[in-house]
Amino acid sequence: MSQELIRILFVGGHGRSGSTLVSRALGAAEGAACVGELRYLWTQGVTKNQLCGCSRRFRRCPFWKAVGRAAFGGWRNVDAPEMARVHRSVMRIRHAPRHVLPGASGAFGRDVQTYAETMAKVYRGIAEVSQSPVIVDSSKFPTSALLLRRVPGIELRIVQLVRGPHGVVHSWSRQVHRADKGGRLMATHSPAQTAAEWLAFNAVIESFRLSRTPWTLMRYEDFVNRPREELSRVLEFAGLPSADLPFLGDGTIDLPVDHSVAGNPMRIRTGEVPLRADEEWRTVMRPGRRRLITAFTAPGMLRYGYPLR
Ligand SMILES: [Zn+2]
Repeated sequence: MSQELIRILFVGGHGRSGSTLVSRALGAAEGAACVGELRYLWTQGVTKNQLCGCSRRFRRCPFWKAVGRAAFGGWRNVDAPEMARVHRSVMRIRHAPRHVLPGASGAFGRDVQTYAETMAKVYRGIAEVSQSPVIVDSSKFPTSALLLRRVPGIELRIVQLVRGPHGVVHSWSRQVHRADKGGRLMATHSPAQTAAEWLAFNAVIESFRLSRTPWTLMRYEDFVNRPREELSRVLEFAGLPSADLPFLGDGTIDLPVDHSVAGNPMRIRTGEVPLRADEEWRTVMRPGRRRLITAFTAPGMLRYGYPLR
């Protein structure tokens, strides 16, 4: 493999914003490969051997086996528990300023360097095995994006995915069973925590506008209403020629099998899936709560073009 830069299209923003669907749609295009939320590689994949998007256990998935071989001569040659520890150490959101400002030193600085150097090998392995010019990483998390700037040999492009805060808050408060984890419940967060994180995560991801990293915005609602237009635009932003996107139907998408290492349970679903904004919150959310969320997230709503009424 030559030492060409590996292009990463990072889908960033807050959880439950539709990133699994959007990333898989991007990954379905010619020249792109979606690997899901790669920040969970060391915990959910290598250590816990959970399900890949292809419905096989991580260690039985031929794609990830090949990536492990290409990157390290096999996953057994990496200290996975140590990498899981390093990942926890560097990923904390309170460390975000330390990833932006110079001077990450001491044990933290060493963890950052270990993480960046190891992930460089992982991305190179993915590029080699997938033979795709663009790798779609839907890790979302702001510190994940900040860390990617330290990974040698990659060229980073950011698509910030935003979904209106009411739908996001509603989704985090709902009890959902995970088809990919034996029916276990998905994590839930309080409305206050979700609203605060929605503002904060989006602000950090948007800060990439001020850096030299190419950045673009996609609203989830625009994606489901005008999927062809929005996908073409972001694929072009990622440097891929706008293809004819044969997997898009009339209000549907035909999802191929992919090898997303972690993400929303819908990552194991394949075939035709309807494209629609989940607007359940409009009928079930109490008006008082709705107003509070609007008031609290108003700066972000205005910024991303969501009407306050
Ligand atoms: Zn797989």
